[in-house]
Amino acid sequence: MPILPIVKLGHPALRTPAQPIPAEGIADPGLQALIDDMAATMAEARGVGLAAPQVGREIQLFVYGAPGPPEIPFRTVINPMLTPQPGELLYEWEGCLSIPDLRGLVPRHPAVRVQGLDREGRPLDYVASGFEARIVQHEFDHLNGVVYLDRMRDLRSLAYADELDRFLSREAPAPEETAVG
Ligand SMILES: [Zn+2]
Repeated sequence: MPILPIVKLGHPALRTPAQPIPAEGIADPGLQALIDDMAATMAEARGVGLAAPQVGREIQLFVYGAPGPPEIPFRTVINPMLTPQPGELLYEWEGCLSIPDLRGLVPRHPAVRVQGLDREGRPLDYVASGFEARIVQHEFDHLNGVVYLDRMRDLRSLAYADELDRFLSREAPAPEETAVG
């Protein structure tokens, strides 16, 4: 499976709302191959999520998953809609494969209901919580031209991962173990 180039901040696909995929287009071999290639690209980049705009495709599709810990089951999500569940926003370190090396503290809903379609075109409807909820919100934002920097409440936490590792490792989880998608 080919590894796809991941576009970086500045590429217009990261700032363009993605188009829904017609239900009859999901079985298209080209789309199925794209899903496989995105999964391989995400694994190669050691990310936990990857949205189609990050490989230059302005369509409503993302993949995510992680071997863990914590283990996050691998999923393909098409044409998603998110509904935040009640609960206070949580701040955790986040990074993005399209914004290499940087990390920032980003507020996210603790749980979200996810509705959409899987890669067979079957309906999805589930609640993601914790780390999975963070990944889903990050990837969903990519489908709307939004990156995590836009969600930060205070840019003073923006930092290079290697500096965070050196200065935070004694009292906080290593930023390398946080959501990067
Ligand atoms: Zn990202």
